[in-house]
Amino acid sequence: MPTAAFTTLGCKVNQYETQAILESFEAAGFAVVPFGQAADVVVVNTCSVTSVAEAKSRYTVRKALRDNPTAKLVVTGCAAQMTLNKGETFDGADVLVPNPEKLEALRHLFRRFPELEARLAREARPTLAPPVGRTRATLKVQDGCDVFCSYCSIPFTRPGLKSRPASEVVEEARRLVERGHLELVLTGVLIGAYGPATGSGGPDFEELVGRVAAACPEARLRISSIEMRQVTPRLLELLASGVVVPHLHIPLQSGDDGVLRDMNRPYSQRDYLDLCAEARRRVPDLAITTDILVGFPTETDERFASSVHVCREVGYLKAHVFPFSPRFGTPADAFGDPVSPEEKRRRSHVLTETVRPETYLRRFLGRTVEALVEAKRGPGETMRGMTPHGFEVSFAGSPSLARTFASVRVDELRDGQAFGELAPARRGEIPLAVRA
Ligand code: SF4
Repeated sequence: MPTAAFTTLGCKVNQYETQAILESFEAAGFAVVPFGQAADVVVVNTCSVTSVAEAKSRYTVRKALRDNPTAKLVVTGCAAQMTLNKGETFDGADVLVPNPEKLEALRHLFRRFPELEARLAREARPTLAPPVGRTRATLKVQDGCDVFCSYCSIPFTRPGLKSRPASEVVEEARRLVERGHLELVLTGVLIGAYGPATGSGGPDFEELVGRVAAACPEARLRISSIEMRQVTPRLLELLASGVVVPHLHIPLQSGDDGVLRDMNRPYSQRDYLDLCAEARRRVPDLAITTDILVGFPTETDERFASSVHVCREVGYLKAHVFPFSPRFGTPADAFGDPVSPEEKRRRSHVLTETVRPETYLRRFLGRTVEALVEAKRGPGETMRGMTPHGFEVSFAGSPSLARTFASVRVDELRDGQAFGELAPARRGEIPLAVRA
């Protein structure tokens, strides 16, 4: 039976899409094997958000070729699209699938290698249903971005706004829960742009969230990343009322008004801080995480200090800090890259030191949280679980707790990590161990 292996670089949207491609291969009769093992076909879903991500994508394709010299190599994703935009070829790729067509990777493969399709018709046997996967599943609801931040290539690799029909999203959410996923992470490139004008079939984003929640009462709902302009009072209400977990990932990118303007990001430092304060007022203990870009060409030392200031003011749970790199075709590509790599490293370090998870986590000491238990951690019976607020807590407990909700009292913070012990559930709380 023909075999296929898959790997993904980059964001949650890419991870979701790789899973969808994988399922289309399985449905056609391929047996899926782990990436790195011998396979007839290897699919690499690439990323080009930074020059490092693009270099890693190219390295992964070269490695796949080394490990599997006779495999047919299918390459898609943002780095593949960037290559097509430049009119270049992607070294090692037998089939280069444009990003907007990636879910049709199989069709592209069969067009290039019709003998594979014939072989499948001869050899494929029906496969068993895929095993239940992780406790949390990503569910893509929207694609594309039209913001055109000056440093970002995504509007060129994922052009146009597209919303999935709400009925399709709700159906898939139900399917995921029935397969055992206890947390759904709604994801999209510009998720707040979800709506009727781009294909939702009616509802806007807040209404979609309500529909998914109503269809899946046994699962938690999380939103993966949302632009500050799209955090509406209605959305905050969904968090405040417990329909969505109290965690928002709101990209900052820079805390300086001048840099934000040069980045073509449509808000000021004041707007951002006010939004975070208002969100915390409506949703007490709200966890906020973010992305910050350092070393943008017009970011001076003084302007960088504004990003440090915002980090101190907001008290993020986590920040993903990444260095600027010029991306082909973007306006900022013309600005040059005047901030040295050493200075970018220094600024990254300063921000990482400023954002201390403990500052946020301290409020949970002595409190009981609901942990979605994911796996054993290390030897012995140390388990870990994901809380609604988006931090993990480790505790002593039986491996049989995996894939259940448990009540854990947070006792200690160490190196930015929370530790606790199983607590008896109080009346009205999630029963200890099993909820689904
Ligand atoms: S909002 Fe800006 S950073 Fe985010 S995908 Fe769109 S252009 Fe890129």
